Amino acid sequence: MKKSGKTLQEEYVSIVKAVEEHLRFAHEMGVSDMGVKKVPQPAAPRNLRTLEDIREWMGDCQRCNLHATRTQIVFGTGSPDPGILFVGEGPGEEEDLQGKPFVGRAGQLLTKMIEAMGLTREQVFIANVVKCRPPNNRNPEPEEIAACSPFLTAQIKALNPKVICTLGAFAARTLLKTEEKISKLRGRFHLYEGIKLMPTYHPAYLLRNPSEKKTSWGDLQEIMKELKLEPPPPSADPSRGKEGQLT
Ligand code: SF4
Repeated sequence: MKKSGKTLQEEYVSIVKAVEEHLRFAHEMGVSDMGVKKVPQPAAPRNLRTLEDIREWMGDCQRCNLHATRTQIVFGTGSPDPGILFVGEGPGEEEDLQGKPFVGRAGQLLTKMIEAMGLTREQVFIANVVKCRPPNNRNPEPEEIAACSPFLTAQIKALNPKVICTLGAFAARTLLKTEEKISKLRGRFHLYEGIKLMPTYHPAYLLRNPSEKKTSWGDLQEIMKELKLEPPPPSADPSRGKEGQLT
């Protein structure tokens, strides 16, 4: 077939030649990366044993664009020797202001979820995939996740939890390196570097879809079975129903 007097094959050859010529010219001009944005990957020092080591390594991190709009880095809080590590997506407005993860409305629900398991926030560790708030609570960009995830990887190594519970799609997909939907991932254990990982819904999603709370409660009960945790007796707290179930 002819197009502009040339066959498709001739067109293809001339396009390849033009690209080759452009690359050669750029190389001669000293251009090496052709403007392709490189994802900044912090090289992890070898002696990162504690959370303090990791925080020191992060410093006043500016490895991705999120540093420009944050109030402060939200590193994570909780026990340095937790049975469970909860991992969310990133800080929201309240978290950015307070410097602590999950302290807004979704955080209050996460606290109830943890207490329904018979634990306190101080007995678990809570962190996020990205440590700085994405503006207007937008989703983190792939290069921001790539830039920040070495810190989470280092945190997981230092904490060595028995179970990781990811909250929402981003955390599960980042740690499991999959594009699978959260509805397909949740409800069963996966393995992350030899650690059992249970994906469940993000508390913010549960606030918007209260009927799914019982689904997430089922996921948490699987973790409780794994860790041999007994739920606290039903208390006078009206936010808890039978056997600690979230209501
Ligand atoms: S989100 Fe992570 S990589 Fe980006 S600036 Fe904040 S701490 Fe650094």
